[in-house]
Amino acid sequence: MFLASRVLHSTGRDTFGVGIFEGSGQRILANARDTFTTKEGGMIPNEVAKHHREVKEKVLAQALEEAKLTMKDIDLIAYTQGPGLAPALLVERDFAVTLAQEYKLKIIGVNHIVAHLEIGLFCTGAQDPIFLFCSGANTQVIVHEDKYRVFGEALSIAVGNAFDKFAREIGLGFPGGPKVEEMAKKGKYVELPYSVKGMDVDFSGIVTRAIQLYKKGIAKEDLCFSLQETCFSMLLEVAERALAHCEKKEVLLIGGVAASKRFSEMLAAMCAQRGVTAYTVPLAYAGDQGAMIAYQGWLERERAQKEFDINPKWRVDEVETFWKK
Ligand code: AMP
Ligand code: MG
Repeated sequence: MFLASRVLHSTGRDTFGVGIFEGSGQRILANARDTFTTKEGGMIPNEVAKHHREVKEKVLAQALEEAKLTMKDIDLIAYTQGPGLAPALLVERDFAVTLAQEYKLKIIGVNHIVAHLEIGLFCTGAQDPIFLFCSGANTQVIVHEDKYRVFGEALSIAVGNAFDKFAREIGLGFPGGPKVEEMAKKGKYVELPYSVKGMDVDFSGIVTRAIQLYKKGIAKEDLCFSLQETCFSMLLEVAERALAHCEKKEVLLIGGVAASKRFSEMLAAMCAQRGVTAYTVPLAYAGDQGAMIAYQGWLERERAQKEFDINPKWRVDEVETFWKK
């Protein structure tokens, strides 16, 4: 190995991750992480920050071990500047800055959503897709023109958050998505509100209704099944319109909710019907992880940055991009 540009990262939200990307070999060398979870309650920002403080050294050590490297082999540090929960972002930023000072390394703050999009391209080979970005905190249909443009988005809560909220209310714990998916396997359809407004989607009314129905005694399994079918159909309707409008030939599903097999299946069916290609990011790179931040740092390695602030509300369409290809 020579002239390796290796980038280390920290993370975004409930996950503290450290990834190492090797520029010369275009390889992900490590992707260690530790995710904050609960059995019953939801995600509390200060508890997430406490979790991150407790695990950061351990996760860094794991990543270095996985890559068979030491900090002396690292050339650049990237961290999530935003969007995300401020207390969690601060822990990550401080850790990145401390390491950068100690090892005299360049440091770059990247946009968490752009990192999700780019790792999706890196892993799947998609060229210029409609990005269907569905995570815990954000749900957006994005296309790249001169900048990233948000074609449509969730107006109230994100799709991942909708699953998390419903799961919390019915006592399934956090994160809710995988638990809802498991329960849905035994469910049948009950009607829930379907809410597409122009190019945007709104999940809050659906969750409220599902919780009401749960309190009236409708089976959890049926509600989980219907919640999935309804939310995913709404998102696919918007993605389909984006495809027609932007004349793209690919759709790429990314973000933590891309872990849903049912969602992937529904996306593949819609794309087959339209004669376009469906891509889903591999499971290991669907949710938040360090590798995507490391990779994004590497893509932006030539950018000079003087201030290392956090930007908890940094939208993807505010990012000054370079479209690398
Ligand atoms: P992220 O914010 O990108 O890390 O994604 C986390 C979100 O993905 C959480 O809201 C999870 O509930 C959701 N999620 C994870 N796995 C699944 C799944 N199999 N089905 C639906 N949502 C999921
Ligand atoms: Mg994320």
